[in-house]
Amino acid sequence: MIEPYCDINYKWVKLVKSLIISFSISADWTYSGTHGPANWHLDFPDCQGMTQSPINIDVSKVLFNPQLKQFDLSEYSKTSGIEMRLVNKGGHTAEVEYSGDKIHLLGGNLPDKYVLAQFHFHWGSASRRGSEHKLDGKAYPMELHLVHYQEHLNNLSYAAPHPSGLAVLGYFFKIGAHNKNFEQLLNYFPQIKTSDQHIEIPTFPLLDLLPSAKVNFYRYSGSLTTPPCSETVIWSISTSFIEIAEEQMFMFRDLYDKENHTLADDFRPLQELNQRIVESNDPRFSDDNDGSGYITASTAAVTLSLLLSLWFQ
Ligand SMILES: [Zn+2]
Repeated sequence: MIEPYCDINYKWVKLVKSLIISFSISADWTYSGTHGPANWHLDFPDCQGMTQSPINIDVSKVLFNPQLKQFDLSEYSKTSGIEMRLVNKGGHTAEVEYSGDKIHLLGGNLPDKYVLAQFHFHWGSASRRGSEHKLDGKAYPMELHLVHYQEHLNNLSYAAPHPSGLAVLGYFFKIGAHNKNFEQLLNYFPQIKTSDQHIEIPTFPLLDLLPSAKVNFYRYSGSLTTPPCSETVIWSISTSFIEIAEEQMFMFRDLYDKENHTLADDFRPLQELNQRIVESNDPRFSDDNDGSGYITASTAAVTLSLLLSLWFQ
């Protein structure tokens, strides 16, 4: 008598467990409303951790670290054996996913080899906002994230829960001249207007989208800026910007989310820095180059020339 009862009980437990698991896997998230960033932690507990992203970078507190080597993006010019797939990813972003030969992110003092998996964008419905990170409280119209996983962890989803499993290189955008190189991407945006539409696009050198192959950056430890908010990301934000025209921003703002609303303002609010320190290898953060050294030297030169002129009077 006991056995069948236990069996039924066990089956119920199993059913409830699988429902809970399937619910938590399929738990949806958005950038506003009930499933917005303020509630992400209810379904994804890591989202209320102590080392979350994005953050505001207080430039006056950035620590110059000359040991940090520049990134070398030479592999970003590779096209042979590489496939690019453009996706309207869940109505959350425009993303390019890579397959085929591997593209490595070199330099930057990363603890291992990292492989490029995808890149995507966060943008605003107006150009005064859009970026996830901010510089001295200022937001930029768009931010590009190049997402890499630690090579020995094989892929993005396996690497995501591992400490330092991911390395993301970010770029801020500023509004300026028409950026012809972006046409290689934007020409295909009309074909990914609705959520989860995708298209294989002709492979082009990723380096075309970026200002240079050598990159100085801000460095800190953080998280994914979307659920599950895993705190496993080595963040590097380029100190140089990408320039794009306002009318090219309209192409991004012409995409749709899952509810067929305009896809824009897909950025997470700023998170607490807590005890973290932001470092940079950009020489402008060096003590020798912070402006005060220059003033001291020029003041000394003026004083010396005054003394000399008095001496020779
Ligand atoms: Zn992102």
